[in-house]
Amino acid sequence: MEPAEALADCLRGVAETLRHHRDLGFREVTLSRDPFSEPLLSKPPLHDLPFSDPTDALRVQEQARAGCTLCKLCKSRSTIVFGVGNPRARLMVVGEGPGEEEDKQGIPFVGRAGQLLTRMLSARGVGFDRDRDCYIANVVKCRPERNRNPEPDEVAACNPFLMAQIETIKPVVILTLGNFATQTLLGTKEGITKLRGKAYPYRSGVLVPTFHPAFLLRNPGESFKRMTWDDLKLARQEYDRLAAR
Ligand code: URA
Repeated sequence: MEPAEALADCLRGVAETLRHHRDLGFREVTLSRDPFSEPLLSKPPLHDLPFSDPTDALRVQEQARAGCTLCKLCKSRSTIVFGVGNPRARLMVVGEGPGEEEDKQGIPFVGRAGQLLTRMLSARGVGFDRDRDCYIANVVKCRPERNRNPEPDEVAACNPFLMAQIETIKPVVILTLGNFATQTLLGTKEGITKLRGKAYPYRSGVLVPTFHPAFLLRNPGESFKRMTWDDLKLARQEYDRLAAR
């Protein structure tokens, strides 16, 4: 490709992205590209759009994502996996990114790891019903090929959408599954083994990290199961304490 043609392509891409963000309600552009600090484009975020009903707000956010081309994951995905569950849930579960089955169905956590997640949430002493009590989303909404980790530019592109979901739902507890979701939301590089077992203040509630169900399927030992159960019971305790306020 001629350099002039490549530059024209690139500028068209930038223009398309800026128009897309303008349509979503963003009014300013920052130059930060650090996914762990500021989002690429700044306020007002999607959750400030005038919707009093979280169901409407989430629907508009999902519609705004249709055909998203903000990162390279758009090239290999089949479906954008936005989120699922009760928009008024007080518990939000955040995973890493859709897998193969989720990419086919457009719903998070419906494969083997998802079935385990459903059982974990309803375990003895935990007692969450996946559909009634939770809203479930991922850090990135499109499947990374061969389930590789999402890359920083992909997380940065999707970050405003996850933040808008969190701000709309206003969960009292966010349960993060695995290294990736936990590190992204807490802005740390510390591993899940160190981070789990505690509740961290997060926005108007707390964040409770635990192992990813896909990790538990690969590591079926009793000790990981026991630690995960302890984390889920902690999430329940925090939920009961904060949701009653
Ligand atoms: N793993 C995830 O992190 N998210 C899904 O939606 C499915 C599997």
